[in-house]
Amino acid sequence: MDRSKILEVIRQYDRNSITIATLGSHSALNILRGAKDEGFKTICLCREKERIIYESFGVADEILGLRDYPDLLKKSMQEELVEKNAILIPHGSFNAYIGNLDELIVPVFGNRMLMAWEVDREKQRKWLLDAGLTLPKTFERPEDIDGLAIVKYPGAKGGMGYFLASNSGEFYEKAKQMVENGLIGAEEIENAHIQEYIVGANVYFSFFYSPMLGRVELIAVDRRYEASVDGLGRIPAEQQLKVDIMPTYTVIGNFPVVLRESLLAQAIKAARSVVDVSKQIAHPGMVGPFCLEAVFDENARMVVFEISARIVAGSNVGIPASPYSYVLFGEPMYMGRRIAREIRIASEKDMLEEVVY
Ligand code: AMP
Ligand code: AMP
Repeated sequence: MDRSKILEVIRQYDRNSITIATLGSHSALNILRGAKDEGFKTICLCREKERIIYESFGVADEILGLRDYPDLLKKSMQEELVEKNAILIPHGSFNAYIGNLDELIVPVFGNRMLMAWEVDREKQRKWLLDAGLTLPKTFERPEDIDGLAIVKYPGAKGGMGYFLASNSGEFYEKAKQMVENGLIGAEEIENAHIQEYIVGANVYFSFFYSPMLGRVELIAVDRRYEASVDGLGRIPAEQQLKVDIMPTYTVIGNFPVVLRESLLAQAIKAARSVVDVSKQIAHPGMVGPFCLEAVFDENARMVVFEISARIVAGSNVGIPASPYSYVLFGEPMYMGRRIAREIRIASEKDMLEEVVY
């Protein structure tokens, strides 16, 4: 979708009556609570089976039912959202369940071109390398695997069906098992991304780039709670060997993390340089939330294995504030609220065009 068309839509909006809307899943509670804290009206677009969540928390002024997420793209739905001066806040479910936002005329907070860079592993890798970050090696083909590797798939799959392999034989054997267990489809194995497995401590940084204030902010830090890999330590080695458990990385939740302070320098430099490169690859560059997923190895060296160019669910650990957002703002601040704050500032300055795409 041509950016000029979206900007045309936002120019017609009544700035004093903006509604913040999102799909009901992933980080919607975070986004909707944040919007309310900043004084916006809110809409949650959700499926019947998740309605109970959004009814229970009372942060959606209006709940619009969807048969399935792609219904968001229906003409009537989009017209209703535009009518209500809605700005959509994208999250992982936009990538995972809708994908192509080309037909979406409703303004989206952030830069949807960068979300396309995120889902394309090759592009994503180029972006991070251009930013000068240290990345895990990638193996082009299973035959190239020459050490412990992790097998991943395109899009926001939340770790579902990922597995480890040390050589091509193990790759094919485990891939077959994964397909048989219904964790992943055969075509996904074809498009798998094989990456060097970094042993260390996983840390996920939720940053925010503010075009209004011209700065990169660290809003929250988390790590994931993954099934079954995080459960393996609870079983004695003897049983682990006997039942031949294959660890999987399905995300179940997140924990907050506070980093050893000296390590923040690496993370902040990485975030700034990712933002600099974003301006070269997709005009107008980064707007709003993004996440760097990293492993710190035994030398406390930061290896970045993934970027998300939107809010990540890990930022949910930072409601109502993380240590970092509190230090920065001196008031409760979390990603959903930070997004709404940026929209508020942009709207007051009559600069909404700068923060949507
Ligand atoms: P769900 O609505 O729970 O199916 O989540 C929507 C998408 O976001 C799926 O692709 C999930 O894998 C992903 N997702 C949800 N929660 C998290 C999380 N806490 N961390 C990482 N990814 C997540
Ligand atoms: P992702 O979908 O890339 O966010 O990865 C999901 C999970 O897989 C992460 O939370 C890690 O536990 C694990 N993981 C992914 N890539 C790597 C890597 N290169 N080295 C170590 N662990 C990884």
